Amino acid sequence: MSDDCLFCKITAGKMDTEFVYEDSDLVAFKDINPMAPVHILIVPKKHIPTINDLKKTDTVLVGEMIQIAKRIAKEQNIADEGYRLVFNCGKMGGQEVDHLHLHLLGGRQMKWPAG
Ligand code: AMP
Ligand code: ZN
Repeated sequence: MSDDCLFCKITAGKMDTEFVYEDSDLVAFKDINPMAPVHILIVPKKHIPTINDLKKTDTVLVGEMIQIAKRIAKEQNIADEGYRLVFNCGKMGGQEVDHLHLHLLGGRQMKWPAG
């Protein structure tokens, strides 16, 4: 837990954020500024700033994040039509919140290359 980290506060239940999923290691909630009809963030409770900070021992956690994204995509009825999973990393990667999170985006046609 980092005291000045927004996502640490959210994952600890200190904000009024409604979770679409929660277990002992992860939460998922709707992005406050959605970029698609479905835009959900899958966020570990552990404070890991970026992908660059991942340790070998975080491998299972990251796998779980993807498994939960898959499950939520099915619940949101976008699994069959397709969706996008995104980790932004650092300034040039467009990361604004320095607490690891996986974006689940769907419900519209995605473009490539991403902007
Ligand atoms: P990133 O640019 O990858 O760091 O993504 C951070 C995301 O967090 C952005 O899409 C924001 O819209 C989202 N966000 C910021 N504050 C909140 C909040 N309080 N609740 C939900 N999503 C948020
Ligand atoms: Zn944090």
